[in-house]
Amino acid sequence: MRWPLRLTSHSPGATRDAAARLASLCASGDIVLLIGDLGAGKTVFAQGFAAALGVEGPVTSPTFALVRHYACGTGRPVATLIHADVYRTGSVGEVVELALAEMVEDGAIALVEWGDRAAPALGDSALEVTLTVHPTPGSIDERTITLSGRGTWAVRAGDVARALGLASRTMSS
Ligand code: ADP
Ligand code: MG
Repeated sequence: MRWPLRLTSHSPGATRDAAARLASLCASGDIVLLIGDLGAGKTVFAQGFAAALGVEGPVTSPTFALVRHYACGTGRPVATLIHADVYRTGSVGEVVELALAEMVEDGAIALVEWGDRAAPALGDSALEVTLTVHPTPGSIDERTITLSGRGTWAVRAGDVARALGLASRTMSS
């Protein structure tokens, strides 16, 4: 099984469900980069991911706060979920100042919206989740979700495909 993996989501609920399945594979120290235009569904993805880790209360866009910390439910493999949105940062240096890498080193899982901009500040290992909108009449809720892993995630395409219930014939190379 090779990266990238692709699936189609037809609703916000389906995107949340895919995110929840991915969360079940993540552990302390993981970084998930969320990539896609405004309105693509990055925050919706974060909501499903957080819910699967037992985060209580609303998960909203951290655009103005830049970084939010959530306590995960008891008995989860990780205590803290970091949800960042680097849309308003102007440089890689500003992203470095958010200290996301340090929080992850201390054992959090980080979800980073506009993660492609943050990637140079976050080391070699990450799962990249790209959400793409298809402005086709009649399918305004359709999103393509493309996943790619590097560093420690490079060898995990098979795990991710299984967790998402992707049959090998639906894989694209
Ligand atoms: P972003 O964080 O990428 O800017 P949001 O997650 O805040 O985007 O918003 C995505 C919007 O698109 C929400 O209003 C959501 O209800 C809508 N939407 C429609 N279809 C989907 C889908 N398949 N997956 C995710 N969001 C969807
Ligand atoms: Mg958002």
